[in-house]
Amino acid sequence: MTESHSRVAIVTGAGRGIGAAVARRLSADGFAVGLLDLDSSAVKSGAEDLASGGGRAVGVGLDVSNTEQVEAAVAKVAEELGPPTVLVNNAGITRDNLIFKMTDEDWDSVLNVHLRGSFLMTRAVQKHMTAQKWGRIVNLSSTSALGNRGQVNYSAAKAGMQGFTKTLAIELGKFNVTANAIAPGFIATDMTAATAERLGIPFEDFKKGAAQQIPVQRVGTPDDIAHTVSFLVSEGAGFVSGQVIYVAGGPKD
Ligand code: NAP
Repeated sequence: MTESHSRVAIVTGAGRGIGAAVARRLSADGFAVGLLDLDSSAVKSGAEDLASGGGRAVGVGLDVSNTEQVEAAVAKVAEELGPPTVLVNNAGITRDNLIFKMTDEDWDSVLNVHLRGSFLMTRAVQKHMTAQKWGRIVNLSSTSALGNRGQVNYSAAKAGMQGFTKTLAIELGKFNVTANAIAPGFIATDMTAATAERLGIPFEDFKKGAAQQIPVQRVGTPDDIAHTVSFLVSEGAGFVSGQVIYVAGGPKD
């Protein structure tokens, strides 16, 4: 099939962890990639790495929960690389606490980054997708959407990502735009390392303990998620929409 749409992807939270792996994978798949993150130096050097490997990439610093910064970053990617047709809403934070100790700030900051951030990013990018009658949106949910002690803010945000995804699939389907969510289980990144530190458990022990609870007997890697993103944004995945794929080494529901 001849592709008439641009092959330009935006990945948020691409400074490290899962987002950095997704950006590398999409570049290897032939996409020009806009790497967006709070940490602008990390995404600028990430983009340089991709360019030195023969890809096209730009790194832009932003806070995904800030409307003006989101609009400016999407415009910059469109200007430098072409109109984006793939969006991976991956930027995320945790502010864990039991509900009786959780502050207003913990609640607001987590919902702002995940939900408001994904909303602002998607609103800004979908106009390029609908104009080209082709698009792929992938939102990062989590197994925590099903409930997780100490994460009332994060699990609400990640469950929200699933409803957000299904509604995008319904609204944007007629423009040949799909929307799906990936719900990772335990992935070894700075985020899970920070959880181990908060609990006072060495990260290696924390990973070993987690692996014992996972049917495939290992924790996940950022590349496990990047591989699933690569499938969902592919040409051949155009009839997969509104789905939540648990990438957790076993079943979750
Ligand atoms: P990570 O290593 O902590 O990386 C998250 C990235 O998001 C960081 O580069 C961070 O920037 C960036 N970010 C945070 N707030 C932002 C904002 N307001 N605007 C722009 N960028 C922002 O996390 P990860 O483990 O790769 O997780 C990536 C996604 O997968 C998240 O949505 C997370 O909830 C989800 N997830 C992860 C796991 C897991 O086990 N790791 C499991 C399920 C779901 P800074 O570096 O500047 O802070």
